[in-house]
Amino acid sequence: MLELKNVSKFYYNKGVIATGFSKVNLKLDIGEFIAITGESGSGKSTLLNVISGLDTYEEGEMYVNGKETSHYSEKDFEDFRRKYIGNIFQTFNLVNSYTVYQNIELVLLLNGYKKRKIKKKVIELIKKVDLYKFRNTKVSKLSGGQKQRVAIARALAKETPIIIADEPTGNLDKEAAESTIKLLSEIAKDKLVVIVTHNYEQIEKYVTRKITMHDGRIIEDKKIKETKSTAKANEVEYKNITKINRLRLGIRNTFNIKTKFILLFIVFLFMTSAIMTQYANSRKQKHLSDIDGSNYLFRNSSENRIVIKKKDNTPFSSENYAQIENLNNIDYIVKDDALLDNEISLTDKKYLSIYGNASSIKGFKGNVDVGRMPENDNEVIIEEYEDRYYIKELAENLGNTTVYLMDLYTGAINEKIPMQIVGIKYMDSSLYYGNNNIYVSDNILNQMRFQINQRYSKIKILFQNKYYESNIYNPYFKIKTSENVPVGKAYVSNDLNYEVPSGSCKNKPIKIEIDNLYYKEELELKIARTYTKYNIKSLVGEEYEMNNGSIYINPEDYNKLFDKPSYQSSVFVKEVELLRDTGAELENLGYTTLIIKDTLTKSGQAQVVEIFQTIVTIFLIITLFFITYFIIKVILKSRNTYFATLRMLGATRKISKQLLIIELLIVENLAYLISVVVIILQAKQIINLSFIQTIVDYLKIKDYIILYIILIVMSYIISLKYAKKLFKNSSIKTYNGEV
Ligand code: ADP
Ligand code: MG
Repeated sequence: MLELKNVSKFYYNKGVIATGFSKVNLKLDIGEFIAITGESGSGKSTLLNVISGLDTYEEGEMYVNGKETSHYSEKDFEDFRRKYIGNIFQTFNLVNSYTVYQNIELVLLLNGYKKRKIKKKVIELIKKVDLYKFRNTKVSKLSGGQKQRVAIARALAKETPIIIADEPTGNLDKEAAESTIKLLSEIAKDKLVVIVTHNYEQIEKYVTRKITMHDGRIIEDKKIKETKSTAKANEVEYKNITKINRLRLGIRNTFNIKTKFILLFIVFLFMTSAIMTQYANSRKQKHLSDIDGSNYLFRNSSENRIVIKKKDNTPFSSENYAQIENLNNIDYIVKDDALLDNEISLTDKKYLSIYGNASSIKGFKGNVDVGRMPENDNEVIIEEYEDRYYIKELAENLGNTTVYLMDLYTGAINEKIPMQIVGIKYMDSSLYYGNNNIYVSDNILNQMRFQINQRYSKIKILFQNKYYESNIYNPYFKIKTSENVPVGKAYVSNDLNYEVPSGSCKNKPIKIEIDNLYYKEELELKIARTYTKYNIKSLVGEEYEMNNGSIYINPEDYNKLFDKPSYQSSVFVKEVELLRDTGAELENLGYTTLIIKDTLTKSGQAQVVEIFQTIVTIFLIITLFFITYFIIKVILKSRNTYFATLRMLGATRKISKQLLIIELLIVENLAYLISVVVIILQAKQIINLSFIQTIVDYLKIKDYIILYIILIVMSYIISLKYAKKLFKNSSIKTYNGEV
């Protein structure tokens, strides 16, 4: 059945050629029980490896059932081994971390048996080698004799016609050796058994033929007993391991050796978290670069903002707003958006002055660092750098600090709107060009509007056919309100009497004309009273010094002048990516749009950092790839024997590779899963690890998918690279640690 004609095997080792054996001629048949003896180094093992198809030969020809094998590819030899050969080794070649059951099961799994069939067969074999008691014991805990019995059971499992045993008793004591040989002889019927031994006497009574080797040659080949030889052997039918069993084995291998699993997990977790963190940093920088820049007109340069006006220049109606809100990507609308572009100031009337951009609380993202979110219209939160001088004290007095809006130009304090600061969010100190914000309710934003409208309007006063300009820097003709003034009337300074020929301005008309970007308005009033230094306090409740020259009118009249529907608003979008689509939709609906992001003058600094961050990210991915690869190589060193054993048992290179890939991908998936769980815990504020916050803030679902793909591809390439190295050599070399 096996025939060798002039077969030689040489070893090439760094330019030196060693002879394993040379010019061997042999014919081996089913039914024979052959002993090969000879001193150490005579070539016995080499011969067995060639016969088993574990190693190649250089010269001559080996025939299997009459067919030549010299042209065999690695795959052909794999096929040959699976159909014909069961090996037993001196060092057992068992998987130490597997149980007895799992070791025997392994060979059946690899040869495509189904789980159900396997169980019955494995138990049968275990009983046959008398290890039933130990079926769930890890092989590493067994004695040498027991181990060899497991190896025999495993060799039998495949039912191959040829069993090849290389010094199977070499590591056993006398008793164990005897029972092993007896077991081998029992299974020898209808098989070809080839045993290499140092101790011929031990097996003498079973053998049918004795071959002696010396110095790489056969010096004796003696028939001891007649055999009823069958020339042809039945080959074993086999299939490849099923997909589900591949996965099952992959999972078993992942968790089977705890320290290995933990080390691999730590390495993958490190790789995963380092790449996630760096990726988040680069997203953050991209964001900073996007929002970088300033605009002379629009202080609120949010990247989500689109300023809109109606194409026909009419004010916005509530129908208009409803229509806009119905668009998909709209987060919220700020109806009087001029507020957003004006610095406002809050004061507690004592030492505290807080400056910032007025923003709608609806636009606030994330969580406050101190205090809480507003619960009613008069509560505000501020965004500031943590090292600002007043922050510490303010943080300690949250909720107890009443503040008022202060007019930045006149210093006038609006006592009608008391506000409480209830929360602080610290600004990212790396946002060196960020604007600090004061988040208030829409109700308060609306009330602040007067201040803005007045500031942006040209106000002219017509009195006695003469025009006077009212402006906020000059108290003269400044428009102020007082409940004491009746509707349609005005209280003016006593000084105006000098402008009238009769010397009294009482009952004379005075006209206020408002002219701004959006509307014109005029209001004709009658002067009802004049005030002096002495009566101003009792008339309107104010001090003379700051206010002489002001015109006091009823708030209702004031509202007629300034409480106008909006002519310009801003929408804030949810997804910046869709900013332009939303802009186009708004244009279609009849609005003129201005995308603030497009109007910014970039500082350039953030763009440089962005490019730098991208380079760092790529560099890190490459570096981590190699670091991870080398660490994994070290960790998996001990796995070399496992994979060599797999291949000796009939696993193809491809399947061994798949098992390795499954194992590493499982670990990477676990590392990714754990990372995501930690990120979710951070996002839900169950834990507080500041270095994860960047990931929480800047990574979106899309980024997690991209990261997942990057990490899986990395792990996959690492597995391939390692597999390539691992399977470069023949399995027997790998097994002998020659990688
Ligand atoms: P035995 O099993 O009879 O003790 P081996 O078959 O192991 O002998 O070795 C036969 C010869 O081949 C020895 O001279 C040995 O040094 C050489 N040899 C075996 N394996 C290798 C190898 N991997 N590389 C180089 N020489 C080898
Ligand atoms: Mg040997």
